[in-house]
Amino acid sequence: MLIMSLIKNIVVAGGTHGNERTGVRLVEKWMDCPECYSPCCPSAKVELVLSNPEAIRLNRRYRDHDLNRAFSQVCLDAQSEPQEYEFRRARELNRIYGPKGTGTKTDLLLDVHNTGANMGLCLILSARDPFTMKASAVLAQEFKDVRIYYQPEERSVSPYFGTVAKADVCIEIGPQQHGTLDARLFEETESLVRRYLELAEEWNRGELQKRAPIQVEVFTQLRDLGYPKAWALSPIEAMIHPDLLGRDFCELKKGDKVFRSFDGKDILYEGEADGRTSVWPIFINEPAYYEKDIAMSLTVRTEEMW
Ligand SMILES: [Zn+2]
Repeated sequence: MLIMSLIKNIVVAGGTHGNERTGVRLVEKWMDCPECYSPCCPSAKVELVLSNPEAIRLNRRYRDHDLNRAFSQVCLDAQSEPQEYEFRRARELNRIYGPKGTGTKTDLLLDVHNTGANMGLCLILSARDPFTMKASAVLAQEFKDVRIYYQPEERSVSPYFGTVAKADVCIEIGPQQHGTLDARLFEETESLVRRYLELAEEWNRGELQKRAPIQVEVFTQLRDLGYPKAWALSPIEAMIHPDLLGRDFCELKKGDKVFRSFDGKDILYEGEADGRTSVWPIFINEPAYYEKDIAMSLTVRTEEMW
């Protein structure tokens, strides 16, 4: 948490997933062009990292294992030297930018990802950190397509790279096909990451903290929804319903169509076990989540003052 403390060390990461090219090219561009970002936050040291060079070279999500699922304390502390490239790389990144925990060298980590889903400029917050909340609220005002996704996680068990730092934002930009670039999204992403750096500067001057609270829509993680299947290892029995495709962050009510079976039958949303009858799905049809058996993540929408 960045309560009252200065943001002295910032890491901007791209290529944590090697085929999410916006972050890869943004970091590569900035490595060649320090003047593109260094004036934004002169009070902090800003470092750039290509998190998964092997996967970037292959233009694949990962080589042996998802790097962004390798940063739990258990993974980082395992006694034996791991065989898989990403587990070794996670330890290396943790040595350079961590170590994960209160003694970490990194105050703020901005990890730039892409998604094939219609997520817009999605800011994922894993904790109720005062800087990331305030800065993200400002960005939600400034950028038309910003959405705030709150995915509460106990930091030590969280497998994400960002949790190596005291505070982090995972920036998910979409829709963009993996392995490709999109000029409009690239430019918006660059502006967005720059604004985070400028707002870190504002925080270090003690000014961001004094801004009046901003009303924001917050989408909080509820659960993941898998594809319909007879049993765990059998093929999926339905696709995302055409009426739902592309409708990330839109309300899904009990009785709405959610899947379409291969013989043309509609499968309806039945509501939640706790009696909730409305959810807001995100990451709908994300290609990288087929292997994780996630058809979408369900969230709950609230309005809050940040
Ligand atoms: Zn990613």
